[in-house]
Amino acid sequence: MLDALFKPKAVALVGASTKELSIGNVIIRNLQRYGYKGEIYPVNAKADEVCGLKAYPSLADIPGEVDLAHIIIPSQFVPQAIEECGQKGVKAVIINSAGFSEMGEEGARLQAEFLANAHKYGIRLFGPNCQGIINSDPALNAYCNFTFTFPKPGSISVVALSGGVGALIMQALDDLDIGQRLYASNGNACDVSIPEIIHYYGEDEGTKAVILYTEGFDQPRDFLEVARKVTAKKPVLAMKAGRTEEGAKAASSHTGSLAGVDIATELIFEKIGVLPFRDEGEMVRAAMAFSSQPVPAGNRVGIITNTGGPAVIATDVLVDFNLEVPKLSAASIARLRETQFPEAALENPIDVVATAGGPQFRAALDVMMDSDQIDCVYINFVTAPFTDTDAVAREIVAVNRQKRKPLVCNFMTNLKLERFQKTMAILKEGDVPFYANPGDAARALGSLVQYGRIQRRDIGQPHLFDGADAARARTIIEQARQTGRQVLTAGEVYGIFEAYGIAVAPWQVVRGADQAVAAAAAIGYPVVVKVDSSAIDHKSDMGGVAVNLKDAAAVSSAVEEMQRRLGHFGELGFLVQKFLPGGRELIIGASAERNLGHLVMFGLGGIYVETLKDVVFKVAPVTRVEATEMLAGIKTAALLDGVRGEAGIDKQAVIELIQRVSQLLGDLPMIEEMDLNPIMAFADGAFAVDGRIRIQTGG
Ligand code: ADP
Ligand code: MG
Repeated sequence: MLDALFKPKAVALVGASTKELSIGNVIIRNLQRYGYKGEIYPVNAKADEVCGLKAYPSLADIPGEVDLAHIIIPSQFVPQAIEECGQKGVKAVIINSAGFSEMGEEGARLQAEFLANAHKYGIRLFGPNCQGIINSDPALNAYCNFTFTFPKPGSISVVALSGGVGALIMQALDDLDIGQRLYASNGNACDVSIPEIIHYYGEDEGTKAVILYTEGFDQPRDFLEVARKVTAKKPVLAMKAGRTEEGAKAASSHTGSLAGVDIATELIFEKIGVLPFRDEGEMVRAAMAFSSQPVPAGNRVGIITNTGGPAVIATDVLVDFNLEVPKLSAASIARLRETQFPEAALENPIDVVATAGGPQFRAALDVMMDSDQIDCVYINFVTAPFTDTDAVAREIVAVNRQKRKPLVCNFMTNLKLERFQKTMAILKEGDVPFYANPGDAARALGSLVQYGRIQRRDIGQPHLFDGADAARARTIIEQARQTGRQVLTAGEVYGIFEAYGIAVAPWQVVRGADQAVAAAAAIGYPVVVKVDSSAIDHKSDMGGVAVNLKDAAAVSSAVEEMQRRLGHFGELGFLVQKFLPGGRELIIGASAERNLGHLVMFGLGGIYVETLKDVVFKVAPVTRVEATEMLAGIKTAALLDGVRGEAGIDKQAVIELIQRVSQLLGDLPMIEEMDLNPIMAFADGAFAVDGRIRIQTGG
């Protein structure tokens, strides 16, 4: 439980300062200014008083109980301070000081020392090198932070790894007058982690939506498990920075975080239903809609406008978010005809025209709210000076208060004019999410709809196929490990595939030409001969693949040719395999991600992989729904259905292959990298004809 951190009854400040421009001073002033309801105890050996409060020479001298302490002293004194916190019975500590693991060996040693002290007393540590927390609950008003924005109470809670971005988000929410609930920025996060904070927000009744900013996760599996439970209850809006290599570098050098250019975080977001953003402004503007609007039941939008062009801009954005703009029913149009001006457009969008006043807007809104073809409403409201704009705003507010369907408003005006400030105040007072341009309003509504879609999406459970032989696969891997090999031989690879029922082209491994000819006869012509050597990665590039061999002579000359050309790699093994021509070449791949498990890849395979990079990823285990999404997710998805009379491929067979690969990966975490490339997919069936597995050695 993080109550001592987020709901402190008394806060001590080790390193309280009389110097106005110091952190040990600013935090006290912030607590005072925000109206903190608990006790504040400055600890300072040299001063009697700090910020008008009695100061204490040490924690031990404080008369009352202390549940939370800030530590704002040079890093070398922090371990001792934590020891004193333990003796005082402090339950949580915010270490604002920097100079630890981000500063090399000596810093890391200090960190290990204070962590040990904290564990000894069961103290939870927040930071180091961090801002702190804010709890806007009017019963508490805890501002344990050195920033300068004083959020009004509300229902959005923010957690940010980076203090700078956290402050930016807090400020942006405040600029939009959006109330906030809890705030946390935990810097180096040596103990209390982001997953833990998100869990806490999930349990917090006052939190309706969570905003997360991260630069990657140290323990992505923990995040996945925790956040999945939270997203089932409330929306989590998230942004992960460091998508580019340059961005990732900036992230790791600043906060000591372990971000890489990982796609894993975004895939985790997708898997557990976190709503991803690529722009912090967009995320904050969406939060405004989330804080007041219900979740749309579907993606059909009704548009009401009193001006033409902005409705066109909005429509483009809404359609980009996969919203539909359906036609209204004849009955709805008939109702509109009775209430709108003759020059109004009564389709969807409804153009009430610039002269429309409160009654026209209200009638159009009522039609949209009543229509069973509409799930949400987008309003363009330009403050035409020849209309009663306040009346329009009041009608929008009245309909918004009904909370029947979500709505957003693009409010186009001039706020230098007092008259329109008043109109704006009506919208604000009425909790209408309004925006300064059509794109922003449309994107906020798009995010709401996207969230509704995420909420309704059920990926199901991973399927475990009967007959999978994990023991056989493990034995094969164990044998390879014992000989110190990381890359498995063809025989081992196909053996593991078969243990999981993965369809493969019939095969045999052989040593020389005579054995190859016998194998070919058993498999049936035509066959393929491939060199099998751990030293050779791309067999075809080295002339190590001979396809469409129709008879014994062709097989033995192919083997002899490869022996001649590739003999310098040592004694060669060969794979003889059934030739399966004419299929669509696909790839299924996997790679182990630190502390996460495997990512599974699917895409267009064979020689096109590197050039077209038409692939998609998921975090294992991959369910049937997700495997189906993978097939639909590649750019060339249409090719799988066949184009211009060409037959489509057996998608069900490929979907099953992906699931079997996923099951295999779940049983065999020691697999570092694996690919099935190509898989030959036909109208009837799909078969792996090349496979590669690299394992971790040792362990
Ligand atoms: P590598 O990837 O090491 O170069 P592959 O075994 O993938 O070697 O073979 C290269 C290409 O040869 C494949 O992409 C495919 O086009 C073709 N090929 C390989 N095996 C078969 C097979 N059994 N049936 C049909 N074509 C095959
Ligand atoms: Mg290959």
